[in-house]
Amino acid sequence: MAALAALVVAALATGCGSSEPAGPAQQPPKPKAGGQAGGAVDQAARLKAAQQARVAAAKKWGLAKVPLAAPPAPKEKPEITASEGFEVEDQENLPPVFTTVPTEDKVVFLTVDDGAEKDPQFVKMMQELQIPYTAFLSDYLVRDNYKYFKDMQATGVSLNNHTLNHRYMPGLSYEKQRREICGQQETLRKEFGKLPTLFRPPYGNYNEDTLRAAKSCGIKYVPIWNAEAFPDKMEYRQWDRDLHPGDIILTHFRGREDWKGTMPDMVRQVMKTVTDKGYAVARLEDYL
Ligand SMILES: [Zn+2]
Repeated sequence: MAALAALVVAALATGCGSSEPAGPAQQPPKPKAGGQAGGAVDQAARLKAAQQARVAAAKKWGLAKVPLAAPPAPKEKPEITASEGFEVEDQENLPPVFTTVPTEDKVVFLTVDDGAEKDPQFVKMMQELQIPYTAFLSDYLVRDNYKYFKDMQATGVSLNNHTLNHRYMPGLSYEKQRREICGQQETLRKEFGKLPTLFRPPYGNYNEDTLRAAKSCGIKYVPIWNAEAFPDKMEYRQWDRDLHPGDIILTHFRGREDWKGTMPDMVRQVMKTVTDKGYAVARLEDYL
């Protein structure tokens, strides 16, 4: 964001420098504070600067195409309900599990799980490309380097709950599930100053107790995923093996030990797929 702000300022400053008449006799034009035309000009300059930054970043990071810009956040938020086949009993009183956000915008959402690989290049790349993403952290993988995620948070990324120890939730009692989820809520609040409202169960596995426990810890949404990104491929949940408007994409904080590539390789792969299919990556929280 800081880089973008600097670019906007630079673009505006250049604009002023070239359009202002020279000479001390002339009155400088009065700023149109809050005027509609002024706002539109600012907005256009901002969009232009953002696009220029995006083009430069795409080149720098070796992306096949410049990522498409997401539309503005919807003013009216979609109503999120459990995806079909993901409901539990008493669902209407529990946080919904969903793979896709109901929207007609040509957007998908990127979510990154666990926290094993802590590649500073990934954070830098995503910030420069202005690609939003949402993190789901499991403390046992994160606790050796909270600073990495604090730096990530400072770029505007929200850090959410993926339990303390990444256990298979349906194999645990209600009380043990509660400790895994509420314990991670407390850790995230203590380390990062914010209590998340998003929770993702490890492996995407849950039962009614999981959702009851999550609700009791302050969780409102349980986004899972409809596609998964790797450095060398995509995997899809649905038979059509395609992306759809509002689909949530899962990927991981992983590197060469687990993958055929690095996190930047994964970003290049997923962004090629997303952009080729005409989608922009939007911020999940803007739709909730
Ligand atoms: Zn996980």
